Amino acid sequence: MSRTEVLLVAGTHGNEINACWFLNQVFKKSELQEKYSFNISTVIGNPLAFEKGVRYIDRDLNRSFSSRLLSQFSQSREYEVKRAKELIDLYGSHSKKPCQIVLDFHSTTAAMGTCIVIYGRRSNDLALASLIQSRLGIPIYLHEGDDEQIGFLVEKWPCGLVVEIGPVAQGLLDYKIIRSTSTVLETCLDEIQKIKNGDFTFPMSLDIHKHLGSIDFPRDSDGNINGIVHPQIQGKDWIPITKGQALFINSNGEEKFFNFDNMPESVIPVFINEAAYLEKGIAMSFTTKEQLLFEKSWSEDFYELLA
Ligand SMILES: [Zn+2]
Repeated sequence: MSRTEVLLVAGTHGNEINACWFLNQVFKKSELQEKYSFNISTVIGNPLAFEKGVRYIDRDLNRSFSSRLLSQFSQSREYEVKRAKELIDLYGSHSKKPCQIVLDFHSTTAAMGTCIVIYGRRSNDLALASLIQSRLGIPIYLHEGDDEQIGFLVEKWPCGLVVEIGPVAQGLLDYKIIRSTSTVLETCLDEIQKIKNGDFTFPMSLDIHKHLGSIDFPRDSDGNINGIVHPQIQGKDWIPITKGQALFINSNGEEKFFNFDNMPESVIPVFINEAAYLEKGIAMSFTTKEQLLFEKSWSEDFYELLA
């Protein structure tokens, strides 16, 4: 029987500092860890970026875990590619401390509240996410089918969830965000402990927000942004919109509306005006809500992982 190891990561983006503060100043000094029968490790994902107060040094660490980049790490001059390899060497399946579960704590400038992000439909992720949703009622954003956005940290571990909490500015400590971080973290650890104790109930279903796609800001012929997020939608993450909803407004007061052939009549916008996504050409993403019936294989795989 292998020992269950849980890895808590904060500061994968160096300017998302609330979870870093919580882990360093509260969690590590508390006796909370003794409540659990499994091992918990904590790490700052991108320590150099955290020290400098920036998102990353050379490239986004949370897009640096693709097989292509990792296979080229010895030739790479990019700090984050080397750091990605280092984290796998420290906590991956062939390391001295192989972790089965990773929780990667982020913050967002968008008014997302607290949500969990999962990448693809891995049974372990769905099992843990459904336990957390049944306790806290928070949205689960299922990111899949976007070839532009790959190489996420959590995908390199057998079970991995991203926790996104907002709104908070980059580099700003905010009591509410720290308190939400603490709540989600403790809930995750409690649920893992219940599985270890054999004392748990999985819900019948899981509500997910499936990623449909992202859109860029309107731009002029030189590529400059010439329309900003419309005040009617700013801060309205998770609130459904339909065709005709104003999305952007330009300097003349002209509006651009939600009206895309490749989107359904009604969608749910998320990450609206997320500051860090400006460089990715993403003004907001669209999702659609679906209910997944809980499958027995999810819980079976999850017990096996934690056995
Ligand atoms: Zn982040």
